[in-house]
Amino acid sequence: MSVTAISRQFHLASRPGGAPALENFKLVERELDAPSEGQIIVRNLWLSVDPYMRGRMVDRSSYIPPFGIDEPMDGAAVGIVEASKDEKFAVGDTVSHFAGWRDLALIEARSATRIDSAAPPQSYLGPLGIPGLAAYAGLLSIGEPKAGETVFVSAAAGAVGAVVAQIARIKGCRVIGSTGSEDKARWLTDEAGIDAVINYRQVNDLSAALAKAAPQGVDVYFDNVGGDHLEAAINAANDFARFPLCGMIAQYNGEPSGPRNIYRAIEKRIKLQGFIVTDHLGLWSDFQRDVGQWISEGKVKWTETVVDGFENAPQAFVDLFSGKNTGKMLVRLADAEDSRA
Ligand code: NAP
Repeated sequence: MSVTAISRQFHLASRPGGAPALENFKLVERELDAPSEGQIIVRNLWLSVDPYMRGRMVDRSSYIPPFGIDEPMDGAAVGIVEASKDEKFAVGDTVSHFAGWRDLALIEARSATRIDSAAPPQSYLGPLGIPGLAAYAGLLSIGEPKAGETVFVSAAAGAVGAVVAQIARIKGCRVIGSTGSEDKARWLTDEAGIDAVINYRQVNDLSAALAKAAPQGVDVYFDNVGGDHLEAAINAANDFARFPLCGMIAQYNGEPSGPRNIYRAIEKRIKLQGFIVTDHLGLWSDFQRDVGQWISEGKVKWTETVVDGFENAPQAFVDLFSGKNTGKMLVRLADAEDSRA
């Protein structure tokens, strides 16, 4: 590659007051230094945009630092090594890493992971990456589903939710998912094979809809949404139900929200446990083995929504909050090819 490499990257321009908007992002160009010993330059092919990034746009202390104003944003990405000063990586290797939101990244080689498998590289941003691990760890370690039980999962057609729903089926559970469109509902029943779907945009009373879909009550609720979904799940919960709290996207933009019935968690002895996926990295190899096998056997199907063009990354992120994605929301850069068969 040429001595002077230009990286196009998104910086945080301002912090959103409510829903994130394009004006919160700024596209800038930066000259990259040549890699020093132990560094590599990666040309990104796929960028991940994820709901948790909304939390990083707020200046508050959390499990991960906030994005700084006028500083580069980051996140999961997959790319090709374009220059290497590390013996473990060769030019042309495909790697996953965390310097997303840019087309060209100069990173420490130890922060990258080589992708050797035959699976499409972007699947390491979806079912074989952090969303898949969140589903696997949250459902199995915290939800502890048993055959014959009823599992309810919100945002069921999303990156995390779709994997949760299908693992719960594999474990012999009856699975109910909620989603916000008829197309997604169809994908969940026809492709993912789950038992019942609630289109929450088409019901007036989510608790009533869930009671009807789960006449025997809910044993595990995998929460991706919070608010009215969590409230309905508490109403439907059986005694000693388990609720892995993975995300509450209905509240990320500051909307006031319940649950107003949290006291019922006491009566019903519900276990509500929040978790962060990185607490469960110890499960990584089990997760890769199991989910990899389930995908190859066709027991876990996955889908993705691809937004083309690096400059469209902010729009892809904004669109997560209006449900424009089915499966993993991805940004494909010009050089990437979808290698899915
Ligand atoms: P995703 O489900 O692929 O995308 C977000 C989906 O949320 C949208 O497609 C939309 O689907 C739904 N949604 C958006 N706004 C909503 C609202 N106001 N009310 C109800 N549904 C809404 O995203 P993901 O990456 O799989 O993440 C799912 C959840 O898991 C998020 O809350 C995320 O923060 C969380 N997460 C947590 C961890 C962790 O470590 N704890 C790790 C990964 C993800 P519909 O059209 O179906 O409404």
